Amino acid sequence: MGLPRLTIDLAGIRQNVSVLRKLCQDRGVFIAGVTKGVSGSSQIARNYLAAGLTVLADARVQNLQKLSDLNAEKWLIRLPLPSEAGLTVQYADVSLNSDWDTICALDRAAQKAGRRHGVILMADLGDLREGEVDPEKILQLADQVTALKGIELRGVGTNLTCLSFIHPDQTKMLQLQALAQRLPMNQSPIVSAGNSASLNLLLTTGFPAGVNNLRLGESLLVGRERSHYQYLPGTRRDTFILSAELVELKTKPSVPWGEAVSDSYGRIPPRPADRGPRLRGIVAVGRQDCDIETMWPQDRGIEILGASSDYVVLDLTQSARSYRVGDVIQFELGYFAIMRAMTSPYVSVSYRGA
Ligand SMILES: *Cc1c(COP(=O)(O)O)cnc(C)c1O
Repeated sequence: MGLPRLTIDLAGIRQNVSVLRKLCQDRGVFIAGVTKGVSGSSQIARNYLAAGLTVLADARVQNLQKLSDLNAEKWLIRLPLPSEAGLTVQYADVSLNSDWDTICALDRAAQKAGRRHGVILMADLGDLREGEVDPEKILQLADQVTALKGIELRGVGTNLTCLSFIHPDQTKMLQLQALAQRLPMNQSPIVSAGNSASLNLLLTTGFPAGVNNLRLGESLLVGRERSHYQYLPGTRRDTFILSAELVELKTKPSVPWGEAVSDSYGRIPPRPADRGPRLRGIVAVGRQDCDIETMWPQDRGIEILGASSDYVVLDLTQSARSYRVGDVIQFELGYFAIMRAMTSPYVSVSYRGA
């Protein structure tokens, strides 16, 4: 297999799912296992199910399509594109919604396909991404939805900590609970409290009664809750390892010379401190394939200095090992690096621990 290579530890992911499932189940919360960070990988989705989840969720219909032969309820967790209403009802059982016209398009598509499509209405509780701000408007939408033959109202949800990084708190959860209690529904609604950033609240304060779902991606993949960026006890964080080949290794000054101009974002890079001559290495992987802010060399003596499209530059001075060009350097990946590696056609993906 070629390099760069992403090695995914399925046993580690199953372990994370089991830990999270136990924590949530004890508190009356079921998990929708989110696969969008891993391009809807069916291997990973299968392992979510093997570890006890029953709902799979993704932001993209194309990813849900990849999961269509898996026996689980599928949720589309990005607002559906009106132009994809047909594909949405074909590949998703449930979608998160905030727009009446889109729901009508889903209704027409569902009726045409002879199905009923589930709808969770989204409340914007302050993060200013998707959802309706006014609870009365959500309830009005809910009333309208109950009249549609192709649509089944399944509940309410919210998403926080994704755009404005507003944190879920007890007040917001009580608002969601109050909204859910007023829904025109006979069976108990799904009340979907958010993503991996809502875990901390669940594990400390707990959710109000009836708030019964989380849509989790990052915490299942790498064991990390998002609000304080802690790794949860008993989880594995080394589930995604990126291997890249060293293509240059030389001792160079630590300060560049000549006049610095703007980088690709229009910013002049700050001049690094003078640490004298350093052993610098370059690996053949770049911003196209990974994200240096969310990846860490497994050899803790190696430091990441920077990256361009096709190179990551390292400082290996403190490493206890002696490297040569052609050696493989391994990195533990976090969420954005995983997402980039999974979507880069230049990274070969392999699974272990099946
Ligand atoms: C991405 C996303 C999630 C999952 O977020 P994690 O932080 O990976 O747990 C949940 N809900 C929605 C609407 C999302 O867009």
